[in-house]
Amino acid sequence: MAAQVIAGIPPVTLLIEEGLRLYSRDDDKLRTTRLLERSTTLEKWQRVWSDHSETEMWSKTLIPDVRQWVSCKHRRLDFYLTQFLSGHGYFGDYTKRMGITKGSICGYCGEEDSPEHTIFVCQRWAAWRSNTESVIGAEVNSRSITILMMKSKEN
Ligand SMILES: [Zn+2]
Repeated sequence: MAAQVIAGIPPVTLLIEEGLRLYSRDDDKLRTTRLLERSTTLEKWQRVWSDHSETEMWSKTLIPDVRQWVSCKHRRLDFYLTQFLSGHGYFGDYTKRMGITKGSICGYCGEEDSPEHTIFVCQRWAAWRSNTESVIGAEVNSRSITILMMKSKEN
């Protein structure tokens, strides 16, 4: 579920429903109809995402609104951003859960490691965070980071 949201690709069941709604409509304003049906799909996807179990909580904290995330024109993903957004990466809590490491301690500071710790808490990255916040002009935290990212391509 989180991978689909991060990639901005609606679940196939919702896309099939959208296709069926389009097929059943008989009008000559296809582009408008497609946009309306996509909007309906995104509303349904948002409800599914909001109601989804707590296993995807980290991604849901970062991306609470699927509709905003999908509509961001400059949204680009890479290896590191995907790790951060999914929480599936070289973070102590994940590597421990996957049996890759025995503990979940941050190698830089000795605290419990997680995506939130690495990006928003660890003192190893304090200067980077401070510099980023001064460039952006806003506090960067788990509730604000994707909103700030979506505000501009530079962010
Ligand atoms: Zn640390």
